[in-house]
Amino acid sequence: VIFAILLLMLAMAGALLRFTDRARKLAELQMQFVAGVSHELRTPLSVIRTAAHNLRSGVVTGGKQIERYGVLIVEEAERLTNIVEQVLRFASTKAGSPLGGREQTSVVSLIDSAIQATAASVAESGCHVEKHVGENLPPILADPVALKHALQNLLSNAAKYGAEGGWIGVTAASSADESGVEIRVVDRGAGIPADELGQIFDPFYRGKRAIEDQIHGTGLGLNLVKRIVEAHQGTVTVTSSPAQGTEFLVRIPALPVEQRDEFADSISRG
Ligand code: ADP
Repeated sequence: VIFAILLLMLAMAGALLRFTDRARKLAELQMQFVAGVSHELRTPLSVIRTAAHNLRSGVVTGGKQIERYGVLIVEEAERLTNIVEQVLRFASTKAGSPLGGREQTSVVSLIDSAIQATAASVAESGCHVEKHVGENLPPILADPVALKHALQNLLSNAAKYGAEGGWIGVTAASSADESGVEIRVVDRGAGIPADELGQIFDPFYRGKRAIEDQIHGTGLGLNLVKRIVEAHQGTVTVTSSPAQGTEFLVRIPALPVEQRDEFADSISRG
């Protein structure tokens, strides 16, 4: 009996140690997150403040210069909006399901609108997007806003971390057994180190290079992608090789034929 009690106490001590270690790591990540987000907010705010100050004090004159300042303010304001939206979305999905209403959705239009929404950051990175979409993709049952946000995250990550490759591939195809749709977002960047692959979907996690090179981000993007995709009964996986690039594969089940709305389907087919 004493031996059993000792064993139990040992197991409990081990579990407590593991729990404390995890709590410490999470607290560390959260501190990094707060510092990172504060930095992320401070940069665009000071750019906007300085630009507005220069405009008001008459330092900036001439239509061309004023236009340049206008573009700068819009870009930085968009960056601020994206950060705030990401954090708010993360907070609200923590509190409940990451999905709003679901409806029959065309994957093609979802991909097009995600590419359009990230066009500015992709152009800024110097990448070009190559899109290949299979014919007769089945519709899916999706929250189009949430799923578009997930695809946008993958695309803007490819632009942020894969810029040196200059190329981003987006493909969509029916899965081999036709039970779903497979969406791939591929880049030819530096790739993800093997020891980081297991952590990139954790909330607040940022890769070593992202921190060292001060690439902007909150560490919430991929966690949101995973939660949004899984709420659609889908999966997201990653494969990456150093110096060759990274591929994210999102699988979403197709809407069963008997549930398809023929009218909506014909509209999405155009
Ligand atoms: P963030 O981009 O804000 O850091 P994410 O959750 O989107 O947060 O990504 C987590 C980490 O995964 C990033 O910090 C980066 O290290 C790594 N990562 C994500 N996408 C890529 C990619 N396409 N190529 C290389 N690394 C990536």
